[in-house]
Amino acid sequence: MREYYNDQFSFVATNFARSEIRELLKLVGKTGFISFAGGLPSPETFNVEATKEICTYVLDNNAAQALQYSPTEGVPQLADALIDWAAKDNIKVGRENVLITTASQQGLDLLGKIFFNPGDKVICSVPTYLGAIQAFRTYQAEFLGVPIDPETGMDTEAVEAILKKDREGIKFIYVIPDFQNPAGVTLSMGKRKHLLEIADKYQILIVEDSPYRELRYEGEMPPSLLEMDAGQGRVLTLFTFSKIFVSGFRLGWAIGPASVIDKMTIAKQGVDLCTPAFNQLIAAEFITRGLLRKQIDYNIEFYSKKQKLMLKSLDEMMPKIDGLFWTKPEGGLFMWLSMPEGHDTTGDMLKRALDMKLAYVIGRAFDPFGGSLNSMRINFSYPSEDVIPLGVERLAKLIESEIAAAKSG
Ligand code: PMP
Repeated sequence: MREYYNDQFSFVATNFARSEIRELLKLVGKTGFISFAGGLPSPETFNVEATKEICTYVLDNNAAQALQYSPTEGVPQLADALIDWAAKDNIKVGRENVLITTASQQGLDLLGKIFFNPGDKVICSVPTYLGAIQAFRTYQAEFLGVPIDPETGMDTEAVEAILKKDREGIKFIYVIPDFQNPAGVTLSMGKRKHLLEIADKYQILIVEDSPYRELRYEGEMPPSLLEMDAGQGRVLTLFTFSKIFVSGFRLGWAIGPASVIDKMTIAKQGVDLCTPAFNQLIAAEFITRGLLRKQIDYNIEFYSKKQKLMLKSLDEMMPKIDGLFWTKPEGGLFMWLSMPEGHDTTGDMLKRALDMKLAYVIGRAFDPFGGSLNSMRINFSYPSEDVIPLGVERLAKLIESEIAAAKSG
């Protein structure tokens, strides 16, 4: 086929970077390969039987709505179920505060669309979720990065310092307070309060990205930023069914100030008109039958075993070396492992890992400034319990040989 268009793409499209994770995911499933790379939920968590039964139920009872276009805001049955769901966390909102999205990745894109003129800025931690980097870059946003503490999360003093110095052009603060992707770190209560104070003081929106909050395996659950905001409009939160029900439905929701939700809704019309009604009605039924609560409890039990096994394996097998460090998340799907400064987990080391049939995601993928070279993200939700120790053994060998090579070289 002849290609006439290569010099026609927009500046943004010309500079698109392919997602490093998507590329790695192509390896998942090859025999003998152990992947700590993707952020996939385990297919063993999918409640196929209930989903099948509800599909039939929806088609039997409501095919006309399920198979039709639906309001951009979302089908009322699901919006109402989600409003009730939020109420369990003391979050009181109305329909005007809710937008059902084609999963939370779409929420990120819509926020980019409605807030960023080229060169506008967003404050985020470094590292941060690579899908947010990808979404915001499309709108030519600039990133203002702050460090993340492995115990207490994003450095909110640094956030305030940025705003104090120059508030101009900064559209929002992007934060993943619970079991952050990629580091697995949770924002402390003190820092949550501080962020809300900052939002007040500098009149700036907080975007709380919250895919993992429900997946807590140990420790106390601090309130979400949305709950702490208590209806004052400082916070917009993105939720998703991806890790608590199924990711294949591509179903999520945003709760936030009505004015922002309204703009997102209009922006969404240009993207996909509406999220599939069929998926929404199945999810609504899943919630109202009390199955979502049960599913979350199941997922917690299921993933918590893997999290403990991963931590135990790392403790037992990793070489004891100064500067080698990994986070100890109390929930979510990920850990962040850093090698001593100066090491590079990209390039040759990644190639050697792949030769050993082991995959991880390089830290650089989560760094809007191309740093974090000595770090990697490790996922424990997808690999089975049989292979987690084996994968850690491979990783330990790889790290030992990298460190030995650096010493001798
Ligand atoms: N935000 C964060 C922090 C994530 O980790 C993910 C998924 N990995 C998403 C958003 C997007 O998830 P989804 O589109 O499946 O809801």
